[in-house]
Amino acid sequence: MKIPPLISQGVPLTHAEARRYSRQVVIPGFATIGQERLKNAKVVCVGAGGLGSPILMYLAAAGVGTIGIVEFDTVDETNLARQIIHGQSDLGRSKAISAESKINEINPLIKVEIHEVRLDNSNVMEIFELYDVVIDGSDNFATRYLVNDACVLLKKPCVWGSIYRFDGQASIFWSDYGPCYRCMHPVPASDLSNCAEAGVLGVLCATIGSIQATEAIKLITGVGNPLVGSMIIYDALESRFTTIEILKDPQCRICSVNPIQIGLLDDYEAVCGSVTSEEISVVELKRTIDSKEDFMLIDVREPHEFETGHIPGSISLPLGNFSDVNIVKTLPKDKPIILVCRSGKRSATSLELLKAAGFDNALNVRGGSIAWAKQIDSTCEVY
Ligand SMILES: [Zn+2]
Repeated sequence: MKIPPLISQGVPLTHAEARRYSRQVVIPGFATIGQERLKNAKVVCVGAGGLGSPILMYLAAAGVGTIGIVEFDTVDETNLARQIIHGQSDLGRSKAISAESKINEINPLIKVEIHEVRLDNSNVMEIFELYDVVIDGSDNFATRYLVNDACVLLKKPCVWGSIYRFDGQASIFWSDYGPCYRCMHPVPASDLSNCAEAGVLGVLCATIGSIQATEAIKLITGVGNPLVGSMIIYDALESRFTTIEILKDPQCRICSVNPIQIGLLDDYEAVCGSVTSEEISVVELKRTIDSKEDFMLIDVREPHEFETGHIPGSISLPLGNFSDVNIVKTLPKDKPIILVCRSGKRSATSLELLKAAGFDNALNVRGGSIAWAKQIDSTCEVY
């Protein structure tokens, strides 16, 4: 789909800028005017993590005049395998500030604005209003829906990307010209995983993030046909890119002519919370077991229940132990702890106890061993 340039050309390039961007300026069809549009553009990236790293670094290098970063987190060791905007010396540092200093190092001729907040419905509109293009580099569904809804309400394009294990996807959601994210996924599906818990091949961030950065540049300059109304799907294992068409849903709850949702929701975490960060399905558990990932599977039922039958690889640690600090502190913090019981209730309680003790690596198996017996292994004893 051909869309006119989003940004006007603004002020001419300085000599220093003309020199720096000379390899871009010489491209026929991009030219000085394309570079001047980039200089005049304001782009905000949600997240300075896996996708945010290449997005921010390339947009900075390309000469986008103003770059906003929305990020509240700090750099930790598990980030470094994919979040290449941060380095060893940034451990413990604010990701927004770490990203800002890297960008200043890449290109001192552009402006960086940092928003060190957790994006929510109280701040998203005022932040996004400052920018022409929004790029979603978030890794969770609550933020993804929040970003989509704010972009629809503000009529801004959202350059979206997502990665999962060996797969990636990218598109532009812009309700003025095509579908929004909700046209594709009206509400969160019940079996969605976040990349933190599902795992992702680090280098995939570069593939998908650089597609997002490219699409943002195309929107700004009007060069080429942006990914509005279509989606790129990348399968790294098969080395295959597929582009599919995505249609606007005439009944979309937020971007249709008569939307049922006319503002932001009250609580995005509540909409997605139960399926985002702390629960996995038995199908996901089976995949995790098969992948031979390093994790600890704890069965929190009583010993006699455990003896009747349990999921292979699980160890027994009944719920009562989770209130004992001496026992809890022997549990690992450097790999996922997956908690299971009969129905998912006791394991949810043990999850709460672990969270209270400072564990952020624990997950609850939804439906417990009953769901396991029903969906995965019918020979597993259910009493
Ligand atoms: Zn829609």
